[in-house]
Amino acid sequence: MDWPVISDADVLASRPAKNRLDPWKPYAFLVEPERSAAGSVDDVMTIFLTNRECPFRCTMCDLWKNTLDERVPVGAIPAQIDYAIKRLPPAKHIKLYNAGNFFDAQAIPVEDHAAIAQQVRQFETVIVENHPRLTDERCVRFRDQIETKLEVAIGLETIHPTVLSGLNKRMTVDDFDAAVRFLVGHKIEVRTFLLLKPPGLNEGEGIEWALRSLHHAIDVGVQCVSVIPVRSGNGVMETLSERMQFSSPTIRSMERVLEHGLEFVRRVSPSTRVFMDVWDIAKFFNCPSCGPARSGRIQRMNLTQQIEAAVECSDCDQDNR
Ligand code: SF4
Ligand SMILES: [Zn+2]
Repeated sequence: MDWPVISDADVLASRPAKNRLDPWKPYAFLVEPERSAAGSVDDVMTIFLTNRECPFRCTMCDLWKNTLDERVPVGAIPAQIDYAIKRLPPAKHIKLYNAGNFFDAQAIPVEDHAAIAQQVRQFETVIVENHPRLTDERCVRFRDQIETKLEVAIGLETIHPTVLSGLNKRMTVDDFDAAVRFLVGHKIEVRTFLLLKPPGLNEGEGIEWALRSLHHAIDVGVQCVSVIPVRSGNGVMETLSERMQFSSPTIRSMERVLEHGLEFVRRVSPSTRVFMDVWDIAKFFNCPSCGPARSGRIQRMNLTQQIEAAVECSDCDQDNR
């Protein structure tokens, strides 16, 4: 397969319209169970903050759909957090996901950090997203302000050098490693997002590079890995599909990566968690008979971190031997 080379201009030219958002309200919020670092299953609140679009233009990203073109006014982010917390049941941990980078001052105004810290101090863990190139003393200052455990989620995406540079993320594996070492050195936990089958890889390579990337992330010091099966839906991914440079992974590949990932951490790093992202998982069903059972298996394995017996299917097992 050719390696797709995508520029900012390609990404922008292929985009459908953004959703219209109110800067004073989060665009989504929910509480869901997640396996904790301590081994319990805890409720985690996720607030999807409305804020200015991320300045990077990664090929596979569709998070820009729920962003603004302008910086939010000072006070808007604390108002959004307040809005969600008042409407959700209590939870032990909180994710403040901003479809970008929490420590980008154009996204989350620094003037709001103290107010945000006050709001989230009650949670055992505060999880935010960030790019390696924005990972520095700003994270440490915020950790000191919240006075509770900070976890920073960083997308490594893949350690495949050609694919990573083709994703237009403007980072190298060395940038990622340096960011993880910096955070771990300051007692800030790190979770990472890895891609299953980014553009340019076939099904087998997709599995292989997801696992190589997982091994690398854990070697560097990441304590939680979330694997994201790559989807279409942002415009440029559809263009790559038409050029035969991208197709989504199957749910069987998702199961294989999760199984191998769980087996790997059981042997080398038992406190590390491995999750398979299940958002919109029906998109990855390639057999209607067993898709729901495979989805249920993945969701239970995410919570228990144990490998379950494989799903058997008389309709498709023959084709997948
Ligand atoms: S850095 Fe993250 S939010 Fe920004 S474009 Fe890339 S994937 Fe999307
Ligand atoms: Zn089947």
